[in-house]
This record gives sequence, structure tokens and C-alpha cells, in this order.
Amino acid sequence: MNIDSIKNGIVIDHIKAKKGMEIYKALNLGELDCSVAIITNAKSQKMGRKDIIKIDKNIDLDLDILGYLDSNITINIIKDNERKEKYHVELPKEIVNIAKCKNPRCITSSENELQQIFVLTDKDKKTYRCKYCETLKEE
Ligand code: ZN
Repeated sequence: MNIDSIKNGIVIDHIKAKKGMEIYKALNLGELDCSVAIITNAKSQKMGRKDIIKIDKNIDLDLDILGYLDSNITINIIKDNERKEKYHVELPKEIVNIAKCKNPRCITSSENELQQIFVLTDKDKKTYRCKYCETLKEE
């Protein structure tokens, strides 16, 4: 794959430098049957340094995970060598089964079939609380 040009695929841009691998793992990009390139420490006018991920295929991205890991990234959808779409991810209002509640008396500790749900309670501080017991999510 020519990492400068993707014919059809996705470019995840403006990833915080050094965070590309974490996103690669969280999205299970290693399990795709297409080329995936991670560029680390690319120069950026806006950010100084940034990471970029290029996926040589149009897949469904989990925008909640992306928004949760790094809400500043930009997604570019490439079709026939042209950028057809560009959008930003947002902090998800709810995160499901990404983090676990640390409160031992929380109902999710005893009811294993319950989903681990955290709700965004403060957008500026990026604070999430357990949906069931309102315990603050650990970083
Ligand atoms: Zn809880």
C-alpha cells in the first residue's frame, strides 16, 4: 500500500502523538484483512506532532470508542482517491463495556450479565459516572 494515497478507505487523522497504537488495538485493526498503516510522530501545524492511521478499506468504525479515547481526531472517508467525507468524533454520552465500575457494592459486581454502562456527566472535565451507582469512573 502506498501510504500517501488510499483509493478507498479511511484516514484517521489528528490522533494525539503516540496514541495511534492504542487506537489500533482498541479497534481491533490487526484483525482486518486489508492493509493498515500507522504513522507516528507526523508533523502537524496544529498539534506539533500527531499520529495517523490509514485503513485501506471502508469499514464501520466504532465511533464511541474513538471519541472516548481521543475526542480530537478527524475521520476522512476516501472514495476513488478523493476525500468524500470528513467528520469529527465526539465524546460519547454513554460508554458500554469499555470500563468497569470499581464500587464493590455496585449491582454490576454481582449481576454479571449486566452491561457496564457509564454516563457522561461533565463534558468539559470528561467525567463519567456509573449508570447504576454513580461512582466516578477511574482513569
Ligand atoms: Zn457502579
